[in-house]
Amino acid sequence: MPYYGFGYGFGIDPAYLLLVVVSLVLGMATQGYINSTYRTWSKVKGDGASGADVARRMLDANGCGRVGIKSTAGHLTDHYDPRDNSLYLSGENLSGGSVASIAVACHEAGHAVQRQSGYFMMRVRSALVPVVNLSQSMWMLVFIMGVALNIAGLTTLAIVLFAFSVLFQIVTLPVELDASRRAVDYIRASGMSELNVRGARKVLTAAALTYVAAALTSILQLVYLLGRTDRSRD
Ligand SMILES: [Zn+2]
Repeated sequence: MPYYGFGYGFGIDPAYLLLVVVSLVLGMATQGYINSTYRTWSKVKGDGASGADVARRMLDANGCGRVGIKSTAGHLTDHYDPRDNSLYLSGENLSGGSVASIAVACHEAGHAVQRQSGYFMMRVRSALVPVVNLSQSMWMLVFIMGVALNIAGLTTLAIVLFAFSVLFQIVTLPVELDASRRAVDYIRASGMSELNVRGARKVLTAAALTYVAAALTSILQLVYLLGRTDRSRD
């Protein structure tokens, strides 16, 4: 029986424990950083307009007049949904006018602009969505079956499926960075104060770090899985 380590019920593997600890620390550190940065800049008033107002202006200025702006429940749950081509902004960012609210609203508008302009990495990411939905729900089951039945082909298939999730996380990075760049560029070009520009950059950099941490964690997990499989063949 190959030794796949802690987490799959086949003994405790120090390398896996280290991976779990590193992932947790990275995740908690970046989450804490975005929360505190957001909190800081949500206390700083913008130029009087709400997040939705500025996002609307950014959309209109970029030929996205048909993109809707809707509200969504929760804290920092803001996102762009390509299915109905709408921005979903949380209450505080929709009607709030802080520097942080404007930054987040414009970041989501940046995703709509990416779609409108046919931004290449956005198209790659969208094409990966159905594959990733399948691979994320399947890989663990296939992996456990491969280990339990001792079928190398199944564990290899599981790792290939998992690799699609990793690829997705990596492709997400330039998409997120580009949306933030578009947001900061718009905030600057629209003549808002330097404080707005600086705050937007801080908030969106902190948000980007959470995506970097997620990608790094999944890369480490892939390396670990590959290492385990290699060793079990020796
Ligand atoms: Zn985004």
